[in-house]
Amino acid sequence: MSQEGDQEQSDRKKYEFRKVIEDLKDFDGSGTQLVTIYVPEDRQISDVVQHVTQEHSEAANIKSKQTRTAVQDALTSIKDRLRYYDVYPPENGMVLFSGAVDSGGGRTDMVTKVLESPPQPVESFRYHCDSDFLTEPLEHMLADQGLYGLIVLDRREANVGWLKGKRIEPVKSASSLVPGKQRKGGQSAQRFARLRLEAIDNFYQEVAGMANDLFVAKRHELDGILVGGPSPTKDEFLDGDYLHHEIQDNVIGKFDVAYTDESGLKDLVDNAEDALADAEVMKDKKEMEEFFKELNAGDLATYGFEQTRRNLVMGAVDRLLISEDLRKDVVVYDCSECGNTDYEVLDRRKSTPDHTCNDCGAEVEVTDDDREDAIDHLIEIAEQRGTETKFISTDFEKGEQLYNAFGGFAGILRYSTGV
Ligand SMILES: [Zn+2]
Repeated sequence: MSQEGDQEQSDRKKYEFRKVIEDLKDFDGSGTQLVTIYVPEDRQISDVVQHVTQEHSEAANIKSKQTRTAVQDALTSIKDRLRYYDVYPPENGMVLFSGAVDSGGGRTDMVTKVLESPPQPVESFRYHCDSDFLTEPLEHMLADQGLYGLIVLDRREANVGWLKGKRIEPVKSASSLVPGKQRKGGQSAQRFARLRLEAIDNFYQEVAGMANDLFVAKRHELDGILVGGPSPTKDEFLDGDYLHHEIQDNVIGKFDVAYTDESGLKDLVDNAEDALADAEVMKDKKEMEEFFKELNAGDLATYGFEQTRRNLVMGAVDRLLISEDLRKDVVVYDCSECGNTDYEVLDRRKSTPDHTCNDCGAEVEVTDDDREDAIDHLIEIAEQRGTETKFISTDFEKGEQLYNAFGGFAGILRYSTGV
């Protein structure tokens, strides 16, 4: 699968996971106990079963009969689920949740969920039994990881590397032959100054070459470039247009750093903290700005469920934009009289209403199968048509507008369709 395909898979998976986590967090296990187990991919299922069996027998010592029963039921349910697996869990591991949750009116419901192959690997085995499900480690995995290029330089040395998630990876370094400010006896001052400038220019070119080699190939995945160094070096370097223009355009900030060795890369990331937080929202902002530009002055914008869906089916959508906060279902009404299909987007908690065909007015029969998650419905079409899906945060004005004014669905088109 291509990198882009991988990214889409993981966006979709993130959405599925986020939905489950929201549900799990809503559950209140007050008085009863909820069990969470994180299983890394290299942990044998038989080990996990053994651990669960052990916990089950230890739970016999719990004094409250209600809690004891709840914990043992949860563990039994988890053991039942583990039977579906062979020797090892799926890639990246899995997380199991089980417990009796308060369903109101003094009643409890048994809930068991298994999330397979999270977007990041489960790092260590974890058994957790408490009044809440343990969702935080999973939420961290869903947080955007980010890929940033790092450059630190002064006139004597330079280092380039990556920031991948929270990890800094130094890749290459260079040191210069730029002479110090002190000229040797017998050299003319002008000649010395000229040679020195040439040497600086050569060094900047060398550093830029090193950075371009590393970053240009990854420019479509890059979330930004950070540049660090003393003044005026980093300014000279950036103002001199040494970097490949696509890399230069991706520079999200320049920062003072005390060192330009490998430790300078860490210094750079520390000092860029705010810029990195902004960059996360920046990507979403850029998408929405492009959407509004097309909406106001072009013809490559579409919005609302129905229009977006029709454009998607035509294969005309380049990027599908979905509000991160959106939680809606869609009901697909297939009319058996005239063959027409109507769509209705509904709040998740609302029940499916009666429907008469928009075309012929006949009453349309619906079953549970005709109703599904609206986002899943569109992403499925998007995947078939090679359309990228972007989830847009509501933490900025235009992101909020996508949610409030455009029904949470929009698209930037490849070509105008008149739909
Ligand atoms: Zn009809």
